[in-house]
Amino acid sequence: MSVPVTEEREEPETALATARRQLDRAAAHVEIDPAVVERLKHPARVQRVSLPVERDDGSLEVFTGYRAQHDSVRGPFKGGMRYHPGVTEEECISLSMWMTWKTAVMDLPFGGAKGGVVVDPKELSEAETERLTRRFAQELRDTVGPMHDIPAPDMGTDAETMGWFMDAYSVLQGETTPGVVTGKPPVIGGSHGREEAPGRSVAIVAREACEYHGLPLEEATVAVQGYGSVGANAARLLDSWGATVVAVSDVNGAAYDPAGLDTTAIPTHEEEPEAVTRIAERTIENEELLELDVDVLVPAAVGNVITASNADAIAANLVVEGANGPTTATADSILRERGIPVIPDILANAGGVTVSYFEWLQDINRRSWSHDRVNEELETEMLRAWNAVADRVDERGLAWRDAAYALALERLGAAHEARGLWP
Ligand code: GLU
Repeated sequence: MSVPVTEEREEPETALATARRQLDRAAAHVEIDPAVVERLKHPARVQRVSLPVERDDGSLEVFTGYRAQHDSVRGPFKGGMRYHPGVTEEECISLSMWMTWKTAVMDLPFGGAKGGVVVDPKELSEAETERLTRRFAQELRDTVGPMHDIPAPDMGTDAETMGWFMDAYSVLQGETTPGVVTGKPPVIGGSHGREEAPGRSVAIVAREACEYHGLPLEEATVAVQGYGSVGANAARLLDSWGATVVAVSDVNGAAYDPAGLDTTAIPTHEEEPEAVTRIAERTIENEELLELDVDVLVPAAVGNVITASNADAIAANLVVEGANGPTTATADSILRERGIPVIPDILANAGGVTVSYFEWLQDINRRSWSHDRVNEELETEMLRAWNAVADRVDERGLAWRDAAYALALERLGAAHEARGLWP
């Protein structure tokens, strides 16, 4: 079902509008009770909290936090918490919907959630961030829980944030509860390989996508927008597997070398923030990176970077979404009409939540897995999901995003129908 692109060119579009439009498109490709689709358009619950925090200078600032819980028919709510000045209730809802599709595509026994705090983490000291996080945990105490809703890192949060959250929750509960969050430091029940997992899954999926579309990885050129945990790990793995990574970027711009960059020599955001262009011999703008004539483009920074205004200029043969929601619905239609396959976020970066699931299992069983085991099981799960999506691409002639959504909706529809509506 192709929608004339010209009719769709009214942007900007909110993330929630994109999420609902994607759901409607997907629903058209599967046999699903319309009542279930209607339920899936709405979050089960959204909590809004005020977070008074003492600044280091003794003054008080009140931040706003959210937790959107979308659907839990297949298991506890699951999804990250982001600290970003652009966080809104609506964004949390749409991101929680994406988590529901993501856990369903991966066939994990989880639903979808997302939360966040409206804050620029760069403006807080470490002690202030800790106080904010502990207060957030306190306010969400009755909302989260290892069998109910399990947060994880997202933009602006990391393993240390999860450690504070887990500690505050555990102290309030009176018992050490590692399974309340994933993405913690391994020393307190975090999983080996969790941090690199979203980037690893992006690399695995990019490798499979290249093979599927007849592009040998050793001959493929790659551009990666964003050099945080997702972008840097994906770039370094693809580099080590023989691809030529010609450009990587951070907020200041991109390092570019048509002969290939040494991705290990470029500091990741965690190693040294915003240092990508500092050591680069040749730099280009982030907008130019997106339009490079490469085989694989990996947008792995923020959402909504491929839009109606640049989709016509995308010159890559393949787009693999590392970020959540980097392509607007309009841009997606344009790329589809132009015959550029887009491997969707809900499959490509799902390694994060998949290793979160491994972490949760390890926490419940109080037994940790080796790094090798985590990577092997992640590879297995990614290939299983990739093949299930590819089957729908082959059998029904669907675009990759539609195929991934169709798979997720089939699973969600079946679970909703089996459980029914009550009361
Ligand atoms: N924030 C990550 C995502 O968007 C991970 C979520 C999780 O592990 O629960 O997929």
